[in-house]
Amino acid sequence: MAPSIEKNLAVVRERMAEAAYRSGREPGAVTLVAVTKRQSAERVLEAYDAGCREFGENYVQELCEKAAQVGPRQGLRWHHIGQLQTNKARQALELAALVHGVDRESVAVALAKRAAEVGRVLPILVQVNVARESQKGGCDPVVLGALLDRCAALPSVRVVGLMTMPPFSEEPEDSRRYFRELHELRERFGGPARLPELSMGMSHDFAVAIAEGATLVRIGTAIFGERA
Ligand SMILES: *Cc1c(COP(=O)(O)O)cnc(C)c1O
Repeated sequence: MAPSIEKNLAVVRERMAEAAYRSGREPGAVTLVAVTKRQSAERVLEAYDAGCREFGENYVQELCEKAAQVGPRQGLRWHHIGQLQTNKARQALELAALVHGVDRESVAVALAKRAAEVGRVLPILVQVNVARESQKGGCDPVVLGALLDRCAALPSVRVVGLMTMPPFSEEPEDSRRYFRELHELRERFGGPARLPELSMGMSHDFAVAIAEGATLVRIGTAIFGERA
């Protein structure tokens, strides 16, 4: 039998704390977002019972369905971590505490419009395609400053940080330069006072991300096992 979610979580939390400690950071400085895409509502609840409170989904449709199945729970928050289409802005806004993948002005505008309708200020992260991979979500680093300025002009969204997904590699160290570049971009555009959150690091490279300053790590398979 596969190790339980509870056991996996304990291992992940220990490795997170160790990585934070090694780089002189408080363990509480890094938040675990459990990525539940293609996992059942039952497994979400198992993770919730083991102490997880932050959950991430890539697709708005799946987020809606799962949030309905799981129902409201004390302290539970959903994150939208994938690419977002403007026509899904309303649903994303209704369910997500934080939207990680904003990479275009049109998406920020759509979210701001919906947020204004419900009288909410939505926290968002701007996704940066640090490695400039074609077909990958995220804005080009050269337009980041302009995009941040455009977002700052929208009263109903508030950019609270940056997000990135480096090119996939089996070797976690390969991600380091991309995490470091995201950190440097953050310093260039206002530092932690303006952009407190850095969402970077997944199952295989979260320890490296924490060493490079991640405040949010998005972890799926290390908690839930391989996806179906
Ligand atoms: C799936 C996904 C994750 C989690 O990946 P794992 O390798 O399963 O930890 C993190 N971030 C995004 C954007 C994802 O799509």
